[in-house]
Amino acid sequence: MRRNRKVKILATLGPSSDSPEMIERLFKAGADVFRINMSHASHEKMKELHSAIRKVEAENGRPIGILVDLQGPKLRLGTIKKDANKEDKITLSIDDEIIFDMKDEEGNDKRIPLPHPEIFKGVEEGHRLLIDDGKMTLIVTKNTPEEITAIAKTNGTLSSRKGVSLPDSLLPMGAMTEKDFADLDYAVNQGVDWIALSFVQRVEDVAQARKLARGRASILAKLEKPSAIKWLDDIIEVSDGVMVARGDLGVEMPVEQVPGIQKRITMAARKAGKPVVIATQMLESMITTPVPTRAEVSDVASAVYDGADAVMLSAESAAGDYPIEAIETMDRIAQEVEQDELYSEAINNYLTPPEPTGSDAIAAAAKTVSETVNLSAIVCYTSSGSTGVRVARERPMQPILAFTPIVATARRLALTWGLHCVLTSDPENLDDMVDKACRIAFREGFARPGQRVIITAGIPLGTPGATNMLRIAFVGDNGTMGS
Ligand code: PGA
Ligand code: MN
Repeated sequence: MRRNRKVKILATLGPSSDSPEMIERLFKAGADVFRINMSHASHEKMKELHSAIRKVEAENGRPIGILVDLQGPKLRLGTIKKDANKEDKITLSIDDEIIFDMKDEEGNDKRIPLPHPEIFKGVEEGHRLLIDDGKMTLIVTKNTPEEITAIAKTNGTLSSRKGVSLPDSLLPMGAMTEKDFADLDYAVNQGVDWIALSFVQRVEDVAQARKLARGRASILAKLEKPSAIKWLDDIIEVSDGVMVARGDLGVEMPVEQVPGIQKRITMAARKAGKPVVIATQMLESMITTPVPTRAEVSDVASAVYDGADAVMLSAESAAGDYPIEAIETMDRIAQEVEQDELYSEAINNYLTPPEPTGSDAIAAAAKTVSETVNLSAIVCYTSSGSTGVRVARERPMQPILAFTPIVATARRLALTWGLHCVLTSDPENLDDMVDKACRIAFREGFARPGQRVIITAGIPLGTPGATNMLRIAFVGDNGTMGS
């Protein structure tokens, strides 16, 4: 089974979509990678989803990526006592005062528990407290080690367990909590492909996760804090991929800066040859309606024109009423954009020159040759995945097939732009390599008899990063090597 687009779709699983039947339907509708969000899923659930996804993968013969998203140090209000209407919320008007403390008692309209000692250490007078993705803003007027007094800057409500952001405060905390350590350990033992790290602030945050994963999963840094943007290039360098996590980013930084930051991140990640995922609110209105807004369609299309590796669905596929329709909509938008004659020009806007390595020179040459003589596909033999990623970095218009004998490689590459991954044993010799490329390209629907493909590989096979061969081959009758 093949897709008719280059950009990948990352779909979050949740109550609307976490049955084996729904996972299969989402995959068939276009999901290439599934995200399990540890803010909501238990270990039991992760295990169940992991095995359901692997079953769909085995039945359909196409490698599927699984990404486990760690909750990170998400700060939340404690619980608020239910009122006469059984509602655990309080209403504040502008200039109303409220106290936050660490007491283990349900909150009321005078004080609310905020069970995070780090906040009391990092906050200062004048700092903002943003509640529930910035729907409510409070300003700190006084603080002691036990209490924070704040006044409301907007009218609104505070309810139990809502998220709290402190964009002005430097909080003494790392990117991983005790829960994250346990979740990461469970996930890598389960055999997931990607670990997403929330609220990354520094290079060391990524380094720590990488050390714990010990190569068993790739690390995706979620860029949603101002300091991650400050250290963007360094963080990209130590990560295997990044996410433009626009939900929290738009709370931590002025929303009007998010589009520019999205473009800078996309550009920087493409330059480094690391997959970049554009996330959050892409088709938000489809949580409750079967059609998207025009603005949402435009947002998804822009990400595709910019050459992002993947676009993500959160609540749309996890908790909405139209998970399948949301994926189908993304798929249709992506196909339309990629057939637009402006697309190749747009995507080349962010293209940076190949690095001075054999791998990059061959990747760039494969693109030039395939476009110049209109070949049907580029076939890369790749063991670590590096050759596939470097070819994808060139953003060629021809389909790219990545052949690997390592299933973990094929699954990780499911997130990378344009790669159609095939699990296959290493060829025995050069003839076998050419023959295999032709047969599989034919079988997977990428080349017909009489057409040509271009093959890249590192000889001897299995030496990572040593791509040194380019070869054009004819596809013969019934797909074998032609002459
Ligand atoms: P989240 O991350 O959905 O886990 O918060 C994405 C974002 O913040 O945009
Ligand atoms: Mn987030």
